Amino acid sequence: MLSARNSRLTLLCLIATLLLGPPARADGERPQFQWPIIKGEFPDLRLITSTFGESRIDHFHNGLDIAGDNDAVRPMAAGDIVYTRNGPDDPFRPEQGPGNYTYLYHGNGWWSGYYHLRNLSGYPRAGAVSPETILARSGNTGHSGGPHLHFFVARESGYEIINPLTVLPDVTDENPPIIEGLVILTPNGETHLRADRIERFRLTRPYPILLRVRDPGLETYTNRGVYRLRWRLNDDEARERVFDRVQFVDGDWKLQGQHSFEESFVSGYYNLGILSFAEGENLIEVFVADYAGNESSDRFNLVVDRQY
Ligand SMILES: [Zn+2]
Repeated sequence: MLSARNSRLTLLCLIATLLLGPPARADGERPQFQWPIIKGEFPDLRLITSTFGESRIDHFHNGLDIAGDNDAVRPMAAGDIVYTRNGPDDPFRPEQGPGNYTYLYHGNGWWSGYYHLRNLSGYPRAGAVSPETILARSGNTGHSGGPHLHFFVARESGYEIINPLTVLPDVTDENPPIIEGLVILTPNGETHLRADRIERFRLTRPYPILLRVRDPGLETYTNRGVYRLRWRLNDDEARERVFDRVQFVDGDWKLQGQHSFEESFVSGYYNLGILSFAEGENLIEVFVADYAGNESSDRFNLVVDRQY
């Protein structure tokens, strides 16, 4: 009875989807987002130097970085300014990571933030903004290693941070991620494993297997994070990470609400976790992709001398 009802509902939903397009999320429709800074000819947007979900030593990078100084920063969508912080106006000038910043609310549960801005005096500090409004100029305030705009998109009153690439117009990116190798980190140091030879090593106890990978984007010198990561040992079930959102769950930021930072990265490398190697020959297959869908894969042939 229930299942028949469910299948009728599913059919109804399918028909509704075909006729009307996908249903709006219960918590509201997504605004029309635009890039806050355009560098060069769109969609050839260069100088995205960091992507969402990268390792920042002890936390996930929660937005995108666009390098450049004094660039006009516009809202990702129409909305209202909910908060700004301008260091020069603050009599106590406490050190703040984001530097000068602006937070916007776009309605239907969508928020955005813009960090490391130049002095906000002369720029809007309250009220409504349109996509044409100049919010500020990009700068180097706060904890910032060079002039850039850091920006992010949030939902759930800030408890869910979304990869901006999933809501912004697509930009050109023709370069696939580069898989550089596997790493085993032990108290004696790092052992690096390459895909182009048979690697032999001895394990005295289980250690996590780490992956070195970087995505050049359009600027071949940039080391950006990947969007999708999938790996498999021998005939084990494949494991996967998708860097589309982090959620604050049980007191910690977790990738897709499931994987903590420590579970996802070790010493800046992607953490493939502790794998149950067989004694002797093993195969680790790795697949990575950037948000534009450029893919790379590699196969690592490992001969393991298991001493545990
Ligand atoms: Zn950043």
